[in-house]
Amino acid sequence: DAPALPTTGREWHLLSRPVGWPKPEDFDLVEAEVRQPGPGEVLVRNVYLSVDPYMRGRMSAAKSYAAPYDLNAPMTGGAVGEVVASNAEGVEPGDHLLHSDGWREYATLEAGKAAKVDPDAAPLSTYLGVLGMTGLTAYAGLLRVASFKEGDAVFVSGAAGAVGSQVGQIAKLKGASRVIGSAGSDEKVELLKKEYGFDAAFNYKAGPVREQLKEAAPDGVDVYFDNVGGDHLEAAVGRLNLGGRIAVCGMISGYNDTEPAPGPRNLMRLIATRGRIEGFLVGDHYDLRPQFVEEVGSWVRSGELKYRETVVEGLENTLEAFLGVLRGDNTGKMIVKL
Ligand code: NDP
Repeated sequence: DAPALPTTGREWHLLSRPVGWPKPEDFDLVEAEVRQPGPGEVLVRNVYLSVDPYMRGRMSAAKSYAAPYDLNAPMTGGAVGEVVASNAEGVEPGDHLLHSDGWREYATLEAGKAAKVDPDAAPLSTYLGVLGMTGLTAYAGLLRVASFKEGDAVFVSGAAGAVGSQVGQIAKLKGASRVIGSAGSDEKVELLKKEYGFDAAFNYKAGPVREQLKEAAPDGVDVYFDNVGGDHLEAAVGRLNLGGRIAVCGMISGYNDTEPAPGPRNLMRLIATRGRIEGFLVGDHYDLRPQFVEEVGSWVRSGELKYRETVVEGLENTLEAFLGVLRGDNTGKMIVKL
């Protein structure tokens, strides 16, 4: 006989919209009924959950590219899980799916909204990181948005994180003349230089970014991949070379701000440099996914591209894992393992 299907499961709800840093009281871990799959649906037991900086934006009511989370309802996010019951053609119990009903133990969802992933081709967690959304963000942002070309000097902030560590290594593999990274601890800086092959790296907490970047990039930067905003962005504009490009991926330094912060004070420099600054969303670049999976997948398999994951165990620790991403507890992709 097939094992009995779960009737209840735990899920994280947002109770109130955080002001500034999210507090535990803004959330609740709730035991809820598990809906059995209707026609075309599957029931999935989540194995890995993704926690990502963009989720901070969804906790606020402000209109943005991703809709705000509903209050008193399960939050969503990337997840990989194993099918335990299927009412959908072509999907069997035991299959693994990548989907967006994270922050919970069990998810009942339309099979058409999920993608099959192969646990034998790559570790399941990597479909959330190096071979998943954050990896594609790095790939598309560097190669397409920033129009990276061989010989460019590249600066990336948040360089020990999921996106940033991949940006730096892809730039190196594609022939950057110099790759510079910034991160929030001396250990992360060592990792960038020793393991990921960055030419220079600095701890942004150890001194002004502007001065440290000047030292690390004596000949300026052609591409800046911004994960941080604030003083990092201003420093990068200040070092931009002729024809330089800035891809604005994220501005994590401001995600918990309660007041808008002033932008870079030196944008006039874009005139003389004919510089370009362009924001992007990974969701617009999924046409690159096959190329990304092929190229980056082969670098990962050959060991030319290295990655780390910070794995937090237990659904009950998902909120702490998310807060940890905002604090910088993670090296590489932050993942929750159930
Ligand atoms: P990371 O793995 O990079 O984790 C976030 C990191 O940000 C932390 O580890 C921390 O590292 C750093 N950080 C936190 N606060 C600050 C601060 N005040 N100043 C500088 N660094 C800080 O996350 P991701 O790789 O998932 O995301 C990186 C960026 O990319 C984020 O801004 C995110 O919003 C953005 N993003 C954008 C997408 C898009 O489509 N545009 C898609 C995916 C991500 P440290 O110890 O170095 O401080």
